[in-house]
Amino acid sequence: MNKKRFIILSSPSGGGKTTIARYLISKYKEFSFSISATTRKMRPNEIDGQDYHFITKELFVQMIDNNELVEYEQIFGNYYGTPKSELNRAKLQNKILIFDVDVKGALSIQKHFPDDSLLIFLSPPSIQILEQRLRNRQTESEQEIIERLNRAITEMKFADQFKYHIINNILDDTISNVEKIIISEIINKK
Ligand code: 5GP
Repeated sequence: MNKKRFIILSSPSGGGKTTIARYLISKYKEFSFSISATTRKMRPNEIDGQDYHFITKELFVQMIDNNELVEYEQIFGNYYGTPKSELNRAKLQNKILIFDVDVKGALSIQKHFPDDSLLIFLSPPSIQILEQRLRNRQTESEQEIIERLNRAITEMKFADQFKYHIINNILDDTISNVEKIIISEIINKK
C-alpha cells in the first residue's frame, strides 16, 4: 500500500487539533498545513492565508459552484471547506498535508482518497474539561461556547469511525501518541 499523503486530525472544537497540527508542521519539514477557506470572522491571533483563507460568503458559494472544493460544511453558521488547490500545491511541493477539519470533513476526505488518508480523532477527556478549555481560550462568546459544546456531543459519536482515537488529556502525551502513529504509518513506510 502507498504511503499516506494526508493526515487528517479531527476533534470537537477546542479539542486540541490545531496545537498538534502546528507542532507537527514545525517539526517535520515534509509536512504542510491544508489551509481551509472559511467565511467566519478572523480572530485577533490569526493570519489570513496562513490559518485560513478568510473569504466572503459570495466567494465561498462561487467556489462551491465552480467545484473548487474537495468538501465543505456549514458549521456554527459559517462555511468551512478544503480547496482542491491545497491538494495540488502539496502534490507539486511533494508535501504531506495535515488537515484540521470537523468529523464530517474528515470522513468525506477519506471517502474521496481512501488510500491516501490517515484519520486521527482527538477527543477531550470530558465535556466539562472541553468547556473549561473553550472558556480559557477566550475567543468565543457565551452563545458560541454553548453551540460548540452541543456540537461536540454529536461529533464524539463519530469517533469509532476513525482508525485512531486518542483522548487528549495531557498535551505532551497526546503529541507523543500522534507522533508514534505518524512514524509507524508514514515516516517508516517505504
Ligand atoms: P474554528 O472556527 O474553531 O477554527 O473551526 C470550527 C470547526 O471547523 C473545527 O472543528 C475545524 O476543524 C472545522 N474546520 C476547519 N476547516 C474546515 C474545513 O475545511 N472543512 C471542514 N469540514 N471543517 C473544517
